[in-house]
Amino acid sequence: MEAVYIALGSNLHQPKIQLDTAVKFIQRLPRSKFIAVSPYYCTDPVGPVGQKAYLNAVVRIESRLPPLELLYRMQRQENRQLRKRGVHWGPRTIDLDLLLYGQRIIRHRDLEVPHYAMTFRDFVLMPLLDVAPKSLIIPGYGRLDKLASDRSLGQD
Ligand code: AMP
Repeated sequence: MEAVYIALGSNLHQPKIQLDTAVKFIQRLPRSKFIAVSPYYCTDPVGPVGQKAYLNAVVRIESRLPPLELLYRMQRQENRQLRKRGVHWGPRTIDLDLLLYGQRIIRHRDLEVPHYAMTFRDFVLMPLLDVAPKSLIIPGYGRLDKLASDRSLGQD
């Protein structure tokens, strides 16, 4: 089993319900063990103005699923949560990002791990700090606690 971290975000159609639904999906993943979910953080939107606030969280699991299989399962879940609302090409009700898969560095057409934006998005780093060991190494970037303190996050 390897430690895997998944980021969740939503700003549409009752974000708390969207995150709860996505957490349940993660808890039911085969060949995987649920470890922890962070608190849900209400965060300011990045990007176009006029968007609603986001809810963000990070889930920690242990998994034996091949990373691409996990990604495709996550994408099918994103589609299911959209389809339920009947929105096909509208804004996304749930965004699931595979942040880390053990200490692997993956450069595939469909999958980049560590996720490219995880080291500079506070709304990812904050919940990650809640569920990961402080000594966690983000391959290519160094220790999580160092990255966080450089950004003045997670200081007591
Ligand atoms: P986004 O709409 O920003 O969530 O991006 C989705 C696209 O990013 C999909 O085409 C994925 O194949 C690709 N992608 C690359 N790396 C990752 C990752 N670590 N987690 C989730 N999607 C990824």
